[in-house]
Amino acid sequence: MALVTSKEMFAKALKSDYAVGAFNVNNMEIIQGIVDAAKEEQAPLILQVSAGARKYAKPAYLLKLVEAAILDTGLDIVLHLDHGEDFDICKKCVDDGFTSVMIDGSKHEFKENIALTKEVVEYAHAHGVVVEAELGKLAGVEDNINVDARSATFTDPQEAAEFVAKTGVDSLAIAIGTSHGAYKFKGEPYLDFERLKEIHKLIPDTPLVLHGASTVLPEFVARCNEYGGNIPGAQGVPEEMIRTATAHGICKVNIDTDLRLAMTAEIRRFLIEKPAEFDPRKYLGPARDAIKSMVQHKIKNVLNASGQR
Ligand SMILES: [Zn+2]
Repeated sequence: MALVTSKEMFAKALKSDYAVGAFNVNNMEIIQGIVDAAKEEQAPLILQVSAGARKYAKPAYLLKLVEAAILDTGLDIVLHLDHGEDFDICKKCVDDGFTSVMIDGSKHEFKENIALTKEVVEYAHAHGVVVEAELGKLAGVEDNINVDARSATFTDPQEAAEFVAKTGVDSLAIAIGTSHGAYKFKGEPYLDFERLKEIHKLIPDTPLVLHGASTVLPEFVARCNEYGGNIPGAQGVPEEMIRTATAHGICKVNIDTDLRLAMTAEIRRFLIEKPAEFDPRKYLGPARDAIKSMVQHKIKNVLNASGQR
């Protein structure tokens, strides 16, 4: 049991039709819910920390909480920086003991993205840390997904091959129609699987990463709205689409929104149903349980990663 890199996890997942879940963590209850689920399912696990999480919980707390999770569960866990925006934050996380970092240069021009990613790869690899990069732009819900918009923002397969060859990056996040948040599609959900297959064919040894891959589970949205919430029209990526993606080179599936919804739905319900209670453990406990069972469902039924530890 230790902090490990994702190298072996991805090599194994690449050969098979399952993906490793990468869950965003912000506090103790979220971490405990996720790791207890992964332990019960005997699944490989990536815990990831965003810049927002670092700001909210402070880096030292998150690092120590993840170390505690390893101690408590005996699991091997990848500690990953999500969406590092520049070299400095990636370096900081490498120096802090993260085993994986993402450098997100997707907002830059192609050549600039290559140069930035290469710089991070060189530093990280020299310290035994792996790197995820991003090419293409995740669709926003405002985006009109016609053919022109797709080719302008989605990952170009030829560029992906060139990018990986020139940077030496370990895994690549691609844009095929997913987006961050709870409002992923206005109409029918659409992912460009032909593009995914083409990318996977050109770089078959590169593990691909799907960001914005929460399914926005309707039961949690309904519960939030039932107990005073106001999140109408929330829609995620259907589970069937995630399963298809994992069969075509997607080795890492990022999940954050579903954790937020599971936690919030339980807290909302508790506070409305038990207005006299004011002990945070009384509502954070059930919220942690909700996260655990949601993550178990993902691992078992969507990522197909049970027993792949
Ligand atoms: Zn992302």
